Amino acid sequence: MSAITEDRVHCPARGSADVDRRSRPDGRRTHDCHRCSRAFEPRRCPHCGGARIEGPIAVSGAPYETPPATVGCWDCGANIPALREPYGG
Ligand SMILES: [Zn+2]
Ligand SMILES: [Zn+2]
Repeated sequence: MSAITEDRVHCPARGSADVDRRSRPDGRRTHDCHRCSRAFEPRRCPHCGGARIEGPIAVSGAPYETPPATVGCWDCGANIPALREPYGG
């Protein structure tokens, strides 16, 4: 089964799917990443709108020695600039 049943979001720092969605009092959605133990705002791919984007901190749980200049979109494969503040504002 590969049907997409919901809007999938990955942590924009590590690309982890181990995240929870929650609602904030102001109505905006936010997410908690269990791997990073902190909240983040999803980053959207400018090409496909997906929120499954690799992070500049680590891939597959292994930290990068040097942060990459670009990161890849899991949904459409585009390379987009890596964020210096991957958790959002
Ligand atoms: Zn994370
Ligand atoms: Zn994309």
